[in-house]
Amino acid sequence: MKFPRSMRTYCPRCKTHTEHSVSIYKAGKRRAAKLGERRQAVRKKGYGGQKFPLQHNQAKVTKKQSLKLECKECGYILQRKGIRLKKAEVV
Ligand SMILES: [Zn+2]
Repeated sequence: MKFPRSMRTYCPRCKTHTEHSVSIYKAGKRRAAKLGERRQAVRKKGYGGQKFPLQHNQAKVTKKQSLKLECKECGYILQRKGIRLKKAEVV
């Protein structure tokens, strides 16, 4: 699905409709020093291994993709609710 590079929508900080720049949300880089990663490393240490079941047989062929909208007036960033798409692109 194609999305416009900018769209006019409601900004909760400006409390009115303003122009927003559109991009597709991407997960941040995993950092080894962060608490969740350290905790998981402790869990996996020693005998026992994986502490929660990993999903192997995926039923779904798509991933939820959400849009990141940045207000051009105040810089406030909001996200649109994720929808299942095979391909999302900003044109
Ligand atoms: Zn704004």
